[in-house]
Amino acid sequence: MVRTVKEFMRGTIKQNEIDKYLTGGKDFINDGGIFERIAANRNPEKSRIRDIITKARAIERLDPDETAAILNVTDEDLWEEMAQAAGDVKRKVYDNRIITFAPLYCSNLCVNNCLYCGFRTGNEKERRRTLTIDEVKKEAEAIAKIGHKRLIMVYGEHPSSDAEYIAETIEAVYSVSVKTRHGSAQIRRANINAAPMSIENFKKLWKAGIGTFQVFQETYHHGRYAELHPSGIKADYRWRLYALHRALDAGIDDVAIGALFGLYDWRFEVMGMVYHAIDLENRFGIGPHTVSFPRLNPAEGNGLHSQSPYRVTDDDFRKLVIAIRLSIPYAGMIVTARESAEMRRKIIPLGCTQTDASTRIGIGAYSETPLEQEADNQQFILGDTRSLDEVVREFADMGLITSFCTAGYRCGRTGDKIMKLLKSGVEGKFCKLNAVLTYKEWLDDFASGETIRASEKVILKEIDQIKNDPFYQNKKLLATFDDYLKRITDGERDLYI
Ligand code: SAM
Ligand code: SF4
Repeated sequence: MVRTVKEFMRGTIKQNEIDKYLTGGKDFINDGGIFERIAANRNPEKSRIRDIITKARAIERLDPDETAAILNVTDEDLWEEMAQAAGDVKRKVYDNRIITFAPLYCSNLCVNNCLYCGFRTGNEKERRRTLTIDEVKKEAEAIAKIGHKRLIMVYGEHPSSDAEYIAETIEAVYSVSVKTRHGSAQIRRANINAAPMSIENFKKLWKAGIGTFQVFQETYHHGRYAELHPSGIKADYRWRLYALHRALDAGIDDVAIGALFGLYDWRFEVMGMVYHAIDLENRFGIGPHTVSFPRLNPAEGNGLHSQSPYRVTDDDFRKLVIAIRLSIPYAGMIVTARESAEMRRKIIPLGCTQTDASTRIGIGAYSETPLEQEADNQQFILGDTRSLDEVVREFADMGLITSFCTAGYRCGRTGDKIMKLLKSGVEGKFCKLNAVLTYKEWLDDFASGETIRASEKVILKEIDQIKNDPFYQNKKLLATFDDYLKRITDGERDLYI
């Protein structure tokens, strides 16, 4: 349906789909209350912090007072204890796996004016474009040829990229198939990062086969949010705050939260995320599937990156990653190519579960443009543009197995089912098998000789662990795994357990 910008802006927000989630007219973020909690938990005893670490190690989500206590730790040795625990929590829930994905930017037309973003309507230097469905397919083909199976599809908020368009683009990427060295490859999971929408529109995305719906609150602080979003639909803080509530009400059961660090006090944002997770858990029995913690990067026509008084140092960034890992231990954590290769190496061992590679964020950038970044065609400037092959090789050197698995979602292991499986460690067992199968498939189809050599020891170690784990013998999964591994070696594709 083609609408004018005015009609689109007037018709998007449904006030009753905000009000129904409020309690006594209030949302779940109390700005003053958060600062009071942080203040009330100053100078925590070492023993209290160690009790909190024990709770996180048991994969129990922390309460706001506990997160506030962590955020108040000043003893660097205690931070190192927490760093160790963060890595252990990640391994307990997700083992040594890391998932990779590629962002696919479909449009940069936007009615909003977020002061930090290159796509904002006031940025006259931006070259505007919405990909046609054929162009989306070309992008998906170019990404599938690199070996990616997962996308995060990104859109500006505009009538040209409305819910119908997004649904069509999801269907388009699933329709793509490319030839590989030994078989064929497809995109198997399309996650979406788009503006909040109504329950009715979320249902359209669900029907089209969306994976996870991701919305970042940017800043959870009401006042700072108002300053940074002076106009457009996004100026409505609560429409955004309850986006994932509506997504869950529409039947999408994997939702992802995030904040853009550098816009406001990082400790406040971590607290905001914990309150967000709690509200989702209380209402739906499901917390966030993943948490993102992007840091503000330079963007075309915008000085906020260098001027923001809240810029997060590398040291504080490391701390906020640890604090999130311990506070919401069941959630996946996504670090993106906004960060440099060096920074990614530092924080992945602290508990990250997903990252992107071979990343391009210009519109049409995978299929059309050369490798250089083009400031006037992308949202911000990337910190790491290494190829998927290089990143997989580095992970192998770090002892990590890159998983291309999308089975959980396709077997219905999502929403509250996956929450229970994650907390009990059972999901991890299935993931381990599927990680090896998809890793093997990827190495055969896409890897360079150097990466194959680096990955051999990782895959052999994994297979050895699987063969010696009674869980797999008891569940009679070993025979299926052996059979699938052999069939993949022979060129069969997309086998999962
Ligand atoms: N337009 C939709 C929205 O705002 O929700 C979805 C896509 S937006 C392009 C994706 C995310 O990019 C935003 O939520 C924001 O957190 C992040 N972002 C915007 N400007 C950025 C910058 N300069 N550096 C890093 N991340 C940025
Ligand atoms: Fe538009 Fe999203 Fe950028 Fe804001 S962050 S200007 S809504 S694309």
